[in-house]
Amino acid sequence: MNAHVAFVNLPAAGHVNPTLPLVAELLRRGHRVSYAVGRALAPEVAGTGAQVVELPTEMVKPGRDTALDGKHIRMVLDFFCEDVRTSYPLLRKHFRDDPPDVVCADMMAPHGRMLAEELDVPAVVLQPSLASNEHFSLREAVPGAGQRFPREVVEEMSQRIDEVAAELGVRPVLPLQAPPGEANLVFVPREFQPAGDTFDGRYHFLGPMLGDRDQQPWQPRRADAPLLYIALGTAFNDRPDFYRTCLSAFADSPWQVAMSIGEQVQASELGAIPDNVEVRASFPQPAVLRHASVFVSHTGMNSTMEALHAGVPLVAVPQMPEQAVNAARVDELGLGRRLDPATVTAEQLRTAVDEVAADTGIRANLERMRQTLRSCGGAAAGADVVEAQLG
Ligand code: UDP
Repeated sequence: MNAHVAFVNLPAAGHVNPTLPLVAELLRRGHRVSYAVGRALAPEVAGTGAQVVELPTEMVKPGRDTALDGKHIRMVLDFFCEDVRTSYPLLRKHFRDDPPDVVCADMMAPHGRMLAEELDVPAVVLQPSLASNEHFSLREAVPGAGQRFPREVVEEMSQRIDEVAAELGVRPVLPLQAPPGEANLVFVPREFQPAGDTFDGRYHFLGPMLGDRDQQPWQPRRADAPLLYIALGTAFNDRPDFYRTCLSAFADSPWQVAMSIGEQVQASELGAIPDNVEVRASFPQPAVLRHASVFVSHTGMNSTMEALHAGVPLVAVPQMPEQAVNAARVDELGLGRRLDPATVTAEQLRTAVDEVAADTGIRANLERMRQTLRSCGGAAAGADVVEAQLG
Protein backbone atom coordinates (compact mmCIF):
# COMPACT_ATOMS: atom_id res chain seq x y z
CA MET A 1 0.00 0.00 0.00
CA ASN A 2 1.29 3.45 -0.87
CA ALA A 3 0.87 5.65 2.17
CA HIS A 4 1.04 9.34 3.06
CA VAL A 5 3.70 9.82 5.73
CA ALA A 6 3.92 13.13 7.63
CA PHE A 7 7.08 14.26 9.39
CA VAL A 8 7.10 17.03 11.99
CA ASN A 9 10.50 18.33 13.06
CA LEU A 10 12.48 21.29 14.35
CA PRO A 11 14.55 23.34 11.87
CA ALA A 12 17.86 22.13 13.34
CA ALA A 13 20.46 20.16 11.37
CA GLY A 14 21.01 17.76 14.25
CA HIS A 15 17.33 16.79 14.19
CA VAL A 16 16.64 16.89 10.46
CA ASN A 17 19.85 15.39 9.00
CA PRO A 18 19.36 11.89 10.42
CA THR A 19 15.80 11.71 9.08
CA LEU A 20 16.63 12.54 5.46
CA PRO A 21 17.79 9.05 4.40
CA LEU A 22 14.63 7.64 6.02
CA VAL A 23 12.50 10.04 3.96
CA ALA A 24 14.44 9.09 0.83
CA GLU A 25 13.86 5.39 1.55
CA LEU A 26 10.11 5.91 2.10
CA LEU A 27 9.87 7.82 -1.19
CA ARG A 28 11.85 5.10 -2.93
CA ARG A 29 9.28 2.57 -1.69
CA GLY A 30 6.51 4.56 -3.34
CA HIS A 31 5.10 6.42 -0.32
CA ARG A 32 4.30 10.13 -0.30
CA VAL A 33 6.06 12.26 2.35
CA SER A 34 4.95 15.68 3.63
CA TYR A 35 7.57 17.17 5.94
CA ALA A 36 6.64 20.04 8.29
CA VAL A 37 9.66 22.08 9.37
CA GLY A 38 10.82 25.70 9.77
CA ARG A 39 12.28 27.57 6.84
CA ALA A 40 15.98 27.14 7.83
CA LEU A 41 16.03 23.45 6.94
CA ALA A 42 13.40 23.50 4.17
CA PRO A 43 15.94 23.27 1.30
CA GLU A 44 17.56 20.14 2.76
CA VAL A 45 14.16 18.51 3.15
CA ALA A 46 13.02 19.56 -0.33
CA GLY A 47 16.22 18.01 -1.69
CA THR A 48 14.87 14.54 -0.84
CA GLY A 49 11.78 15.05 -2.99
CA ALA A 50 9.44 15.32 0.01
CA GLN A 51 6.79 18.03 0.02
CA VAL A 52 7.76 20.75 2.53
CA VAL A 53 5.04 22.13 4.81
CA GLU A 54 6.67 25.29 6.07
CA LEU A 55 6.27 26.11 9.76
CA PRO A 56 7.14 29.46 11.38
CA THR A 57 9.59 27.84 13.82
CA GLU A 58 12.95 29.56 14.30
CA MET A 59 15.39 27.97 16.72
CA VAL A 60 16.57 30.01 19.69
CA LYS A 61 20.34 30.15 19.77
CA PRO A 62 22.14 31.00 22.98
CA GLY A 63 24.27 34.13 22.60
CA ARG A 64 28.03 34.10 22.92
CA ASP A 65 27.99 34.77 26.63
CA THR A 66 24.93 32.79 27.62
CA ALA A 67 25.57 30.43 30.48
CA LEU A 68 23.45 27.31 30.18
CA ASP A 69 21.68 28.01 33.43
CA GLY A 70 18.10 28.50 34.62
CA LYS A 71 17.73 31.56 32.35
CA HIS A 72 18.64 29.52 29.30
CA ILE A 73 16.29 26.72 30.29
CA ARG A 74 13.50 29.29 30.60
CA MET A 75 14.31 30.64 27.14
CA VAL A 76 14.03 27.11 25.76
CA LEU A 77 10.77 26.62 27.62
CA ASP A 78 9.31 29.78 26.11
CA PHE A 79 10.45 28.62 22.70
CA PHE A 80 8.71 25.23 22.99
CA CYS A 81 5.42 26.63 24.24
CA GLU A 82 5.29 29.39 21.63
CA ASP A 83 6.30 27.00 18.88
CA VAL A 84 3.48 24.60 19.67
CA ARG A 85 1.03 27.51 19.90
CA THR A 86 1.94 28.98 16.51
CA SER A 87 2.76 25.81 14.57
CA TYR A 88 -0.11 23.59 15.61
CA PRO A 89 -2.95 25.49 13.87
CA LEU A 90 -0.97 25.42 10.59
CA LEU A 91 -0.28 21.70 10.95
CA ARG A 92 -3.91 21.02 11.74
CA LYS A 93 -5.17 22.99 8.78
CA HIS A 94 -2.75 21.42 6.33
CA PHE A 95 -3.16 17.81 7.44
CA ARG A 96 -6.92 17.92 7.96
CA ASP A 97 -7.20 18.71 4.26
CA ASP A 98 -4.58 16.13 3.30
CA PRO A 99 -4.56 13.52 6.07
CA PRO A 100 -1.49 11.35 6.65
CA ASP A 101 -1.61 7.62 7.44
CA VAL A 102 1.17 7.97 10.02
CA VAL A 103 3.05 10.88 11.66
CA CYS A 104 6.79 10.70 12.39
CA ALA A 105 7.50 13.33 15.04
CA ASP A 106 10.81 14.40 16.54
CA MET A 107 10.89 13.95 20.31
CA MET A 108 11.20 17.73 20.66
CA ALA A 109 8.28 18.46 18.34
CA PRO A 110 5.37 17.43 20.57
CA HIS A 111 2.88 19.02 18.18
CA GLY A 112 3.57 16.11 15.81
CA ARG A 113 2.32 13.62 18.37
CA MET A 114 -0.62 15.87 19.20
CA LEU A 115 -1.52 15.92 15.51
CA ALA A 116 -1.36 12.12 15.23
CA GLU A 117 -3.68 11.80 18.17
CA GLU A 118 -6.16 14.35 16.85
CA LEU A 119 -6.21 12.69 13.43
CA ASP A 120 -6.33 9.25 15.05
CA VAL A 121 -3.34 7.89 13.16
CA PRO A 122 -0.24 6.18 14.60
CA ALA A 123 2.80 8.20 15.64
CA VAL A 124 6.44 7.21 15.31
CA VAL A 125 8.79 9.10 17.64
CA LEU A 126 12.17 10.17 16.21
CA GLN A 127 15.06 10.31 18.67
CA PRO A 128 18.26 11.85 17.36
CA SER A 129 19.89 11.67 20.81
CA LEU A 130 20.06 9.04 23.54
CA ALA A 131 16.79 7.41 24.51
CA SER A 132 15.51 7.30 28.08
CA ASN A 133 13.64 4.65 30.04
CA GLU A 134 13.33 3.65 33.71
CA HIS A 135 16.99 2.52 33.75
CA PHE A 136 18.57 5.49 32.00
CA SER A 137 17.32 9.05 31.95
CA LEU A 138 19.12 11.52 29.69
CA ARG A 139 17.73 14.39 31.74
CA GLU A 140 19.13 12.95 34.95
CA ALA A 141 22.43 11.94 33.34
CA VAL A 142 23.40 15.49 32.40
CA PRO A 143 25.98 17.02 34.72
CA GLY A 144 24.34 19.17 37.42
CA ALA A 145 20.87 17.96 36.39
CA GLY A 146 19.29 19.13 39.65
CA GLN A 147 20.24 22.77 39.12
CA ARG A 148 19.73 22.80 35.40
CA PHE A 149 16.25 21.30 35.48
CA PRO A 150 14.90 22.35 38.86
CA ARG A 151 11.59 20.76 39.75
CA GLU A 152 9.74 24.08 39.48
CA VAL A 153 10.93 24.62 35.90
CA VAL A 154 9.85 21.11 34.93
CA GLU A 155 6.46 21.70 36.57
CA GLU A 156 6.08 25.07 34.88
CA MET A 157 6.82 23.49 31.52
CA SER A 158 4.17 20.87 32.04
CA GLN A 159 1.62 23.44 33.21
CA ARG A 160 2.24 25.73 30.27
CA ILE A 161 2.03 22.93 27.74
CA ASP A 162 -1.27 21.92 29.40
CA GLU A 163 -2.55 25.46 28.88
CA VAL A 164 -1.44 25.63 25.25
CA ALA A 165 -2.99 22.22 24.55
CA ALA A 166 -6.26 23.28 26.22
CA GLU A 167 -6.30 26.42 24.04
CA LEU A 168 -5.80 24.26 20.96
CA GLY A 169 -8.26 21.60 22.10
CA VAL A 170 -5.78 18.70 22.02
CA ARG A 171 -4.24 16.38 24.60
CA PRO A 172 -0.92 17.78 25.87
CA VAL A 173 2.39 16.11 25.00
CA LEU A 174 5.57 17.33 26.69
CA PRO A 175 8.52 18.19 24.46
CA LEU A 176 11.33 16.70 26.52
CA GLN A 177 9.91 14.01 28.73
CA ALA A 178 6.88 12.58 27.00
CA PRO A 179 6.47 8.84 27.59
CA PRO A 180 7.85 6.72 24.73
CA GLY A 181 5.66 6.14 21.72
CA GLU A 182 4.58 2.72 20.54
CA ALA A 183 7.43 2.96 18.01
CA ASN A 184 10.61 4.95 18.68
CA LEU A 185 13.35 5.28 16.09
CA VAL A 186 16.69 5.95 17.78
CA PHE A 187 19.50 7.05 15.48
CA VAL A 188 22.28 5.46 17.54
CA PRO A 189 23.28 1.79 17.88
CA ARG A 190 22.09 -0.06 20.98
CA GLU A 191 25.77 -0.53 21.91
CA PHE A 192 26.23 3.23 22.28
CA GLN A 193 23.02 3.69 24.30
CA PRO A 194 23.66 3.50 28.06
CA ALA A 195 21.67 0.58 29.55
CA GLY A 196 21.00 -0.40 25.92
CA ASP A 197 19.87 -3.93 26.81
CA THR A 198 17.04 -2.64 28.99
CA PHE A 199 15.11 -0.98 26.12
CA ASP A 200 12.14 -3.03 24.98
CA GLY A 201 10.74 -3.76 21.52
CA ARG A 202 9.20 -0.30 21.17
CA TYR A 203 12.72 1.08 20.63
CA HIS A 204 14.44 0.53 17.32
CA PHE A 205 18.14 1.37 17.42
CA LEU A 206 18.85 2.11 13.78
CA GLY A 207 22.32 3.61 14.05
CA PRO A 208 23.29 6.74 12.14
CA MET A 209 21.81 7.52 8.75
CA LEU A 210 24.13 9.48 6.51
CA GLY A 211 22.62 8.68 3.15
CA ASP A 212 25.16 9.84 0.58
CA ARG A 213 26.40 12.79 2.65
CA ASP A 214 29.81 11.18 3.00
CA GLN A 215 30.10 11.03 -0.79
CA GLN A 216 29.90 14.81 -1.26
CA PRO A 217 32.97 16.09 -3.12
CA TRP A 218 35.71 17.22 -0.77
CA GLN A 219 39.46 16.71 -0.81
CA PRO A 220 42.07 17.76 1.72
CA ARG A 221 44.46 20.38 0.40
CA ARG A 222 47.49 18.14 0.93
CA ALA A 223 47.88 14.41 0.49
CA ASP A 224 51.00 14.16 2.65
CA ALA A 225 49.81 15.52 6.02
CA PRO A 226 47.33 13.96 8.46
CA LEU A 227 43.99 15.76 8.62
CA LEU A 228 42.49 17.09 11.83
CA TYR A 229 38.86 18.19 11.62
CA ILE A 230 37.47 20.63 14.22
CA ALA A 231 33.77 21.54 14.53
CA LEU A 232 31.25 22.39 17.24
CA GLY A 233 28.09 21.59 15.27
CA THR A 234 25.44 24.11 14.32
CA ALA A 235 23.74 25.18 17.56
CA PHE A 236 26.26 25.98 20.31
CA ASN A 237 29.14 27.03 18.09
CA ASP A 238 29.50 30.76 18.80
CA ARG A 239 32.86 30.18 20.49
CA PRO A 240 35.63 32.42 19.04
CA ASP A 241 37.86 31.84 22.08
CA PHE A 242 37.82 28.12 21.53
CA TYR A 243 38.66 28.50 17.84
CA ARG A 244 41.57 30.80 18.75
CA THR A 245 42.83 28.18 21.22
CA CYS A 246 42.70 25.62 18.40
CA LEU A 247 44.68 27.89 16.09
CA SER A 248 47.44 28.30 18.64
CA ALA A 249 47.39 24.56 19.42
CA PHE A 250 47.94 23.45 15.83
CA ALA A 251 49.84 26.29 14.13
CA ASP A 252 53.33 24.98 13.31
CA SER A 253 52.21 21.37 13.81
CA PRO A 254 52.39 18.52 11.30
CA TRP A 255 48.57 18.53 11.17
CA GLN A 256 46.59 20.04 8.35
CA VAL A 257 43.46 21.38 9.94
CA ALA A 258 39.92 21.91 8.62
CA MET A 259 37.99 24.02 11.12
CA SER A 260 34.26 24.72 10.86
CA ILE A 261 33.29 27.88 12.79
CA GLY A 262 29.57 28.17 11.99
CA GLU A 263 27.60 31.17 10.78
CA GLN A 264 27.94 33.37 13.85
CA VAL A 265 31.71 33.72 14.16
CA GLN A 266 33.65 35.56 11.43
CA ALA A 267 37.08 34.26 10.42
CA SER A 268 38.35 37.84 10.78
CA GLU A 269 37.68 37.63 14.54
CA LEU A 270 40.23 34.85 14.89
CA GLY A 271 43.39 36.79 13.99
CA ALA A 272 45.94 35.40 11.54
CA ILE A 273 44.99 31.98 10.18
CA PRO A 274 48.09 29.73 9.95
CA ASP A 275 48.89 28.23 6.55
CA ASN A 276 48.08 24.70 7.68
CA VAL A 277 44.52 25.63 8.71
CA GLU A 278 41.46 26.05 6.50
CA VAL A 279 38.58 27.88 8.18
CA ARG A 280 35.03 27.81 6.81
CA ALA A 281 31.54 28.49 8.15
CA SER A 282 30.63 24.94 7.22
CA PHE A 283 32.25 21.84 5.72
CA PRO A 284 30.53 18.79 4.19
CA GLN A 285 31.29 17.07 7.47
CA PRO A 286 30.76 13.36 6.73
CA ALA A 287 32.86 13.74 3.56
CA VAL A 288 35.64 15.50 5.50
CA LEU A 289 35.59 12.77 8.15
CA ARG A 290 36.39 10.14 5.50
CA HIS A 291 39.83 11.76 5.26
CA ALA A 292 40.33 12.75 8.92
CA SER A 293 42.64 11.12 11.46
CA VAL A 294 41.11 12.89 14.49
CA PHE A 295 37.92 14.91 15.12
CA VAL A 296 37.87 17.61 17.80
CA SER A 297 34.13 17.80 18.36
CA HIS A 298 31.40 19.10 20.64
CA THR A 299 30.06 15.51 20.46
CA GLY A 300 26.58 16.43 19.35
CA MET A 301 25.01 13.07 18.60
CA ASN A 302 25.13 13.39 14.82
CA SER A 303 28.76 14.43 14.84
CA THR A 304 29.58 11.60 17.22
CA MET A 305 27.85 9.05 15.00
CA GLU A 306 29.40 10.48 11.84
CA ALA A 307 32.86 10.10 13.46
CA LEU A 308 32.12 6.51 14.45
CA HIS A 309 30.77 5.76 10.99
CA ALA A 310 34.09 6.94 9.53
CA GLY A 311 36.13 5.26 12.31
CA VAL A 312 37.67 8.58 13.43
CA PRO A 313 38.71 9.00 17.09
CA LEU A 314 37.11 11.87 18.97
CA VAL A 315 38.53 14.54 21.23
CA ALA A 316 35.38 15.75 22.94
CA VAL A 317 34.88 19.34 24.06
CA PRO A 318 31.14 19.32 24.84
CA GLN A 319 29.38 22.69 24.76
CA MET A 320 26.12 21.81 26.45
CA PRO A 321 24.87 19.21 28.94
CA GLU A 322 23.50 16.63 26.50
CA GLN A 323 26.81 16.70 24.61
CA ALA A 324 28.64 16.11 27.91
CA VAL A 325 26.67 12.85 28.30
CA ASN A 326 27.76 11.78 24.82
CA ALA A 327 31.36 12.76 25.61
CA ALA A 328 31.29 10.62 28.75
CA ARG A 329 30.01 7.69 26.70
CA VAL A 330 32.78 8.17 24.09
CA ASP A 331 35.32 8.12 26.91
CA GLU A 332 33.74 5.12 28.62
CA LEU A 333 33.66 3.06 25.40
CA GLY A 334 37.27 3.96 24.56
CA LEU A 335 36.39 5.76 21.32
CA GLY A 336 38.34 8.92 22.13
CA ARG A 337 38.95 11.26 24.99
CA ARG A 338 37.11 14.16 26.58
CA LEU A 339 38.49 17.48 27.75
CA ASP A 340 36.93 20.04 30.06
CA PRO A 341 35.64 22.78 27.72
CA ALA A 342 35.74 25.39 30.49
CA THR A 343 39.47 25.04 31.15
CA VAL A 344 40.90 23.45 28.00
CA THR A 345 44.27 24.82 26.91
CA ALA A 346 46.08 24.72 23.58
CA GLU A 347 48.61 22.33 25.05
CA GLN A 348 45.97 19.90 26.30
CA LEU A 349 44.28 19.94 22.92
CA ARG A 350 47.50 19.24 21.07
CA THR A 351 48.47 16.42 23.45
CA ALA A 352 45.01 14.82 23.32
CA VAL A 353 44.91 14.95 19.52
CA ASP A 354 48.40 13.48 19.15
CA GLU A 355 47.65 10.76 21.70
CA VAL A 356 44.30 9.59 20.35
CA ALA A 357 45.76 9.53 16.83
CA ALA A 358 48.42 7.07 18.01
CA ASP A 359 46.28 4.99 20.37
CA THR A 360 45.92 1.45 19.03
CA GLY A 361 43.34 0.50 21.70
CA ILE A 362 41.05 3.31 20.56
CA ARG A 363 41.58 2.27 16.97
CA ALA A 364 40.52 -1.31 17.73
CA ASN A 365 37.40 -0.11 19.57
CA LEU A 366 36.53 2.16 16.65
CA GLU A 367 36.86 -0.72 14.24
CA ARG A 368 34.48 -2.86 16.32
CA MET A 369 32.00 0.02 16.57
CA ARG A 370 32.23 0.58 12.83
CA GLN A 371 31.21 -3.04 12.21
CA THR A 372 28.33 -2.62 14.68
CA LEU A 373 27.08 0.50 12.90
CA ARG A 374 27.08 -1.30 9.58
CA SER A 375 24.71 -3.95 10.99
CA CYS A 376 22.09 -1.68 12.63
CA GLY A 377 19.68 -1.59 9.74
CA GLY A 378 19.64 2.17 9.09
CA ALA A 379 17.04 3.70 6.78
CA ALA A 380 15.67 0.38 5.51
CA ALA A 381 14.94 -0.82 9.06
CA GLY A 382 13.40 2.57 9.90
CA ALA A 383 11.13 2.43 6.86
CA ASP A 384 10.06 -1.10 7.88
CA VAL A 385 9.00 0.25 11.29
CA VAL A 386 7.02 3.09 9.69
CA GLU A 387 5.31 0.65 7.30
CA ALA A 388 4.49 -1.68 10.19
CA GLN A 389 2.35 1.13 11.69
CA LEU A 390 0.16 1.23 8.62
CA GLY A 391 -1.70 -1.90 9.64
N1 UDP B 1 27.53 19.86 10.06
C1 UDP B 1 28.04 19.98 8.77
N2 UDP B 1 29.05 20.86 8.58
C2 UDP B 1 29.60 21.62 9.56
C3 UDP B 1 29.09 21.46 10.88
C4 UDP B 1 28.06 20.56 11.08
O1 UDP B 1 27.61 19.32 7.84
O2 UDP B 1 30.51 22.38 9.29
C5 UDP B 1 26.44 18.89 10.28
C6 UDP B 1 26.98 17.60 10.87
O3 UDP B 1 27.41 16.73 9.84
C7 UDP B 1 25.80 17.06 11.67
C8 UDP B 1 25.04 18.32 12.07
O4 UDP B 1 25.50 19.37 11.23
O5 UDP B 1 24.98 16.23 10.85
C9 UDP B 1 25.30 18.71 13.52
O6 UDP B 1 24.57 17.87 14.34
P1 UDP B 1 25.05 17.53 15.81
O7 UDP B 1 24.02 16.63 16.42
O8 UDP B 1 26.44 16.99 15.78
O9 UDP B 1 25.17 18.91 16.55
P2 UDP B 1 24.19 20.18 16.74
O10 UDP B 1 24.35 21.01 15.53
O11 UDP B 1 22.79 19.63 16.90
O12 UDP B 1 24.74 20.82 17.96
